[in-house]
Amino acid sequence: MIQITTPLNFLGSVYRNIRQGLTDMGEMHDLLEQQPEVQDKAGATALQVQGGRISFHDVHFHYSPERPILKGISLDIAAGQTVALVGPSGSGKSTIGRLMFRFYDVTGGAITIDGQDLRDVTQGSVHDAIGVVPQDTVLFNDTVGYNIAYARPQATREEVIAAAKAARIHDFIESLPEGYDTQVGERGLKLSGGEKQRVGIARTILKNPPILLLDEATSALDTQTERDIQASLAEAGQGRTVITIAHRLSTIVDADQIVVMEAGRIVEQGRHEALLAQGGRYAQMWARQSAEIDHEDGSQA
Ligand code: ADP
Ligand code: MG
Repeated sequence: MIQITTPLNFLGSVYRNIRQGLTDMGEMHDLLEQQPEVQDKAGATALQVQGGRISFHDVHFHYSPERPILKGISLDIAAGQTVALVGPSGSGKSTIGRLMFRFYDVTGGAITIDGQDLRDVTQGSVHDAIGVVPQDTVLFNDTVGYNIAYARPQATREEVIAAAKAARIHDFIESLPEGYDTQVGERGLKLSGGEKQRVGIARTILKNPPILLLDEATSALDTQTERDIQASLAEAGQGRTVITIAHRLSTIVDADQIVVMEAGRIVEQGRHEALLAQGGRYAQMWARQSAEIDHEDGSQA
């Protein structure tokens, strides 16, 4: 019996590890889109996160030399701050996320986390420090409890429940026929986009990273779902440094810093009220989105 189950358990854990690796890659897909291209230096050490201060020092970056993408980004994100990146499609927001995650190395300047150049530390330790909440959460064909716990399989049921509560998904899970043991995914219960996203947030809360990178969904969610997700993201961001790639400006009015990108440069930077008062690019974007929302509300009435 032992001779049979032990290898099977072993294979099971190998299989889970492989699946976990695949899903980690899958989860990055929207934000990060491609596989890592960097190699750790010989003797690279692990990133030591103290508070999670992130600094971009005149960062330049290109995917290919004939086409510069980031053209001198300087940005200081204090430990525990929430920063929102906004700007038109193609302006370089996701690229900033990819560099922060060290999917690529900068081609000029430097990025540091708590003073350590990302090129001097291991990529794995950077990934451990940063939780990514993607637009699309990939669910395994397994229980909802497993789906929350997979980033930290040794977590207790109590810890899973605490994370689910923080992500505002606990009551929903409790209402399912088998609670946390309900099968979800392709071959189980299909969750809505909003429910899946909150499972993803619970997963990230359980992982407990000092830094969060959020890529806000572009797809329209109904108002209640959006509120639930915003509440769960706010909870997830407590006590962490948060970088949000934002599409709906209404969700970032409380950010400590809003960074407006255009064609690989920062064109405006500040808090919501200050940027509105400035009457520049951000104020235009705000006016345009407010008009769209009024239009949508009008058409629903
Ligand atoms: P945003 O997130 O603001 O929409 P991105 O950072 O995704 O912008 O892209 C910035 C620019 O980099 C775009 O012009 C895009 O086409 C280009 N780009 C993104 N990924 C790659 C890649 N892997 N190879 C070449 N160009 C890329
Ligand atoms: Mg993008």
